[in-house]
Amino acid sequence: MSSHGASNTTTTTHLNKRESAGVLEVEYANEVWYLVAGVIGVALVIHALSITWAWYARRSARSQDNVQTAQPPKGAASLWNVPAAVLTASRIGFLRWRLPFTELTVVEALLTVIYLVALLVWEFVTTLDLTPKSWANRAGHLAALQMPLLVALSSKNSVITAITGIGHEKLNIMHRILSRCILILTWVHLWGRYRINAASMLNEPWKRLGLAAGIAQTLLTFLSIKSLRQMCYEFFVASHIILVLVFLTTLQYHCYMAGFAFYIWPCWIIWAIDRFGRLGRVLLFNFILRVRDSKARVEPLGGDTTRVTLRRRVLGGWTAGQHVFVSFPTLGPGQSHPFTIANVAPEKGSQEAEMVFVVRACSGLTRKLLQRAEEYGKHELPVTIDGPYGCPPDLSPFKTCIFIAGGSGVSFVLPRMIDLFRAVSAGKAHARRVVFVWAVRAESHLEWVAPELAYALTSAPPGLSFSAEVFITAANAASLQVLEKTASLDADVGSPIDSTSASRTPSITTEARAPGTPSPSSEKFPEGEETPVAPASVESDLEAGKREAADAWMLSTLARRVGRPNLHAILEAEIGVAQGPVSVDVSGPDPLVDSVRSALSSGFAGPMAVLRGAPTVQLNVEQFRM
Ligand SMILES: Cc1cc2nc3c(=O)[nH]c(=O)nc-3n(C[C@H](O)[C@H](O)[C@H](O)COP(=O)(O)OP(=O)(O)OC[C@H]3O[C@@H](n4cnc5c(N)ncnc54)[C@H](O)[C@@H]3O)c2cc1C
Repeated sequence: MSSHGASNTTTTTHLNKRESAGVLEVEYANEVWYLVAGVIGVALVIHALSITWAWYARRSARSQDNVQTAQPPKGAASLWNVPAAVLTASRIGFLRWRLPFTELTVVEALLTVIYLVALLVWEFVTTLDLTPKSWANRAGHLAALQMPLLVALSSKNSVITAITGIGHEKLNIMHRILSRCILILTWVHLWGRYRINAASMLNEPWKRLGLAAGIAQTLLTFLSIKSLRQMCYEFFVASHIILVLVFLTTLQYHCYMAGFAFYIWPCWIIWAIDRFGRLGRVLLFNFILRVRDSKARVEPLGGDTTRVTLRRRVLGGWTAGQHVFVSFPTLGPGQSHPFTIANVAPEKGSQEAEMVFVVRACSGLTRKLLQRAEEYGKHELPVTIDGPYGCPPDLSPFKTCIFIAGGSGVSFVLPRMIDLFRAVSAGKAHARRVVFVWAVRAESHLEWVAPELAYALTSAPPGLSFSAEVFITAANAASLQVLEKTASLDADVGSPIDSTSASRTPSITTEARAPGTPSPSSEKFPEGEETPVAPASVESDLEAGKREAADAWMLSTLARRVGRPNLHAILEAEIGVAQGPVSVDVSGPDPLVDSVRSALSSGFAGPMAVLRGAPTVQLNVEQFRM
């Protein structure tokens, strides 16, 4: 009797322990969700604050435009500048500094460490002396519950992008980080089950499927390591799709048997919404909203580059700096590659418009595209697009906007600059100073975006101080003389900053145009009816030869320099005299982007300078990779 009672007590204690372990597991699972919701909430608040600040800055800029207020003197530290100095310090510390040997910013690295540590604490806290029975299944539970988030972070059409303003290409970094955290939990789960009873690990089909899911997930994660991914991207994409399907299907059954299927169903739903969203756009913009000529015009340009032009009716247009996924079914069936739209959308957003892409040849489809263009010259190819995607930051609140591009990075910064000019002309943006710096290897590379660049040079609104410089980095001695000559011809039109800085290059300043002098644009570019503002209309309105002559004339007014730009000096000079917030857009090769990051982390743009009245600087980087 007493032994029976003792055994009852043991069973009850055991059940209580199991019950309380189950309760704890659910509690910790909920806490993981609170953490995730908290992080997304912080991103949402930052997004909302930046929208509110942009609105406020535009409003106060408008009132300052009407009543010219004296700017507070720079030099002495002021308590009023403390919030701006704190903002600057956090931008530098969290967003501009990178961890050595990784592409992670400090904020991304910190988030990763905090998240992983939090997961491991939830995994092992109150685990009854670390006996595997108390943590093995919890690891599986914690891993499974993050699956919907993992899929959402990989989506092109995601609610997270909609509420935080973070584009899919940036969320992809978090997708990779999260997948590694989940993999660690999966391994802990498998190790725990092995420690409990190795023989019972595979004694039922659902357990075997669980192991299969773990193997698929391990392969998935390893094959997405940067070096492997870059070595053969198409293999990565194909293997990713197959392994994801294997992983989700096996996991679905495993979790169903374990009582957690409700974590996996949402993954299929999120994935399906994304896929249907993409399919819907492809059908709408390529087949339903038909255009007269749906093929892409492909032409070879110098420097391993191809220019692709196509026409589409994109409802609502696109925001300058956005990209689309382009597919050439006859060249690379099943492949779609992201390219930034190098021109601006027509102002009436939904009309048929030309989209221009400047494509640098790598070794896959882009190389094939170039080879074909070199073989056939200018020719046409069937094409479909999916997009537009991306959330380029708003430039309307900034007084000084600096655009820096290296090579094909001009596809990102040039349309953003043209768009800014439009917004200033329409009174929707308040830039007073715009600087454009483009580093190219050869002068012939100016052809890549000749019509857009020529258009930009003529569309700077009156009253805006505008400086445009091109740096030819691989020019030889002969071209050096020619270029210096060109530069000196331009030297009579200087912006305020150029007149104070002898080392700076000559620039085009719209203020310098004599009153009554017709703008070059009105002389050269009659406006088309379909796309009155976009440079795309140039081609349809002028014969090719005439257009080239117009572009050449326009580009001859552009200041050129030989050698690499001294970005530190340029930024220091501009920020030193800037009145009001400054934005810097940069796109191009890593060394160029790194030098901008490092310049903007140094003294003249640092928190101490801001405390003494220097402007805050927002840095927008586009590096053409995910
Ligand atoms: C948001 C964004 C905008 C971009 N805009 C431009 C642009 O305007 N002009 C331009 O020349 N390039 C741009 N790129 C880069 C361009 O997408 C790749 O260079 C191109 O896809 C390489 O194709 P490939 O088959 O020749 O590549 P490969 O030689 O096979 O690979 C070269 C590199 O490109 C990456 N890559 C390959 N295929 C894809 C793909 N389908 N999706 C994403 N990355 C891929 C790989 O990581 C690899 O490192 C952009 C990239 C992104 C993410």
